[in-house]
Amino acid sequence: MGRYLGSSCKLCRREGMKLFLKGIRCETSKCAIERRQKSLAPGMHGWRRSRGTDYGIRLREKQKVKRFYGVGEAQFVGYFQKAQHTIGNSGEVLLTLLERRLDNVIYKLNFAPSRKAAKQLIAHGHIFVNGKKTDVPSFLVSIGDKITLKNNEKSKKRVRAQLETNANFTTQGWLQLDVKEAMATIVALPTRQDVQLAIEEQLVVEYCSR
Ligand code: SF4
Repeated sequence: MGRYLGSSCKLCRREGMKLFLKGIRCETSKCAIERRQKSLAPGMHGWRRSRGTDYGIRLREKQKVKRFYGVGEAQFVGYFQKAQHTIGNSGEVLLTLLERRLDNVIYKLNFAPSRKAAKQLIAHGHIFVNGKKTDVPSFLVSIGDKITLKNNEKSKKRVRAQLETNANFTTQGWLQLDVKEAMATIVALPTRQDVQLAIEEQLVVEYCSR
């Protein structure tokens, strides 16, 4: 599967919403969406958005989810199939499965400025789950899992520097963070309310079920 190497902001502009792909820049006025380009698609001239076809609307909702979590098409299909075989609303299950990815958890704990940076932190072996090195960003966390850092100064220094960037940062209720020790515990599974993405998941289900 090819990895997307283009501009992250271009993806937000394509979807017409902030996907928070660039860390601290996303919170500043430098954000391309903040600069009122919401109605313009990428390209030299952009174009005014039309409502689009039913298919197009559903496709865009699916793309938003994929891009927000930084997963490829094949991986996304795998999550959807898993959601379909799980009891509950498939759209909500799909989102909460993605929310449980280790890279998303590391980002939400403010150990990394973006999901992309969290992926790198994990892949480079800085993250341990239940005392075991876990270098797979797609690892799904469960209740009771303990997330710690590799026991070396480099890992701790890097994460502490990130934690200090936002003194007012608070974690969501399903995550328990010990800032001093830079460690966390999963105390519950995430719900739809914990997913900070304004999309209609039912449209994603309709797209994937067609
Ligand atoms: Fe770029 Fe972040 Fe703004 Fe998206 S939210 S346009 S990635 S700065």
